[in-house]
Amino acid sequence: MSREHRDPDCIFCKIVHGEIPSARVLETEHAVAFLDVNPVNKGHVLIVPRAHHRQVAELPDALAAHAGSLLPRLVRAVHAATGSDGSNVIVNSGRAAGQTIDHCHWHIIPRFFNDPVDWPWPHAEYLGDEIGQMAFRISRELVEPPLDE
Ligand code: AMP
Ligand code: ZN
Repeated sequence: MSREHRDPDCIFCKIVHGEIPSARVLETEHAVAFLDVNPVNKGHVLIVPRAHHRQVAELPDALAAHAGSLLPRLVRAVHAATGSDGSNVIVNSGRAAGQTIDHCHWHIIPRFFNDPVDWPWPHAEYLGDEIGQMAFRISRELVEPPLDE
C-alpha cells in the first residue's frame, strides 16, 4: 500500500497496520474486519478497507466492491454467533451523518426484536413532481466516471 493511502493520525490506519490492538474477525489483502469497541449491540463488526480513504464518495469502485463482497459472509457469521434476528448494515459518511472516524468503514450491527436501538429513522414525503425532479438531478450527476485507485 502506498504512503498516500495511510494517515499517521488515523486510528483505523493504526489498527490496520497492527499498531493498536483490535478484535479481528476477518482479514483480506484489501480489508480488515474487527469488533467495534463500543458496540450498538454486542457482535457489532466494522469492515475497514486497508487503504485510507475518508468517505465512501472517495473510495475507488474496486475497493468498495471488495468491501461489499465481504458483507454476506460477515452478516451470516454475526447472525450465527449472536443469535440476532436481523442486522443493520450502514456506512456513515461525513459529520452530518454521524461519521466520527474519517477512514471509510461499514458497520454490521446485529439487531434483536425489542432491543433498545432507536430505529427506524423518521421519513419525509415528496410533494408533486419533487420525486421525479430529484431522480433527474441525481441521474444527471452519474455521467461522472468512477474513481480509480
Ligand atoms: P463512525 O461513527 O461511523 O465513524 O464509527 C466509528 C466507530 O468506531 C464507532 O462505532 C466507535 O465505537 C468505533 N471505534 C472507535 N475506536 C475504536 C477502536 N479502537 N476499535 C474498534 N472500534 C472503534
Ligand atoms: Zn485511516
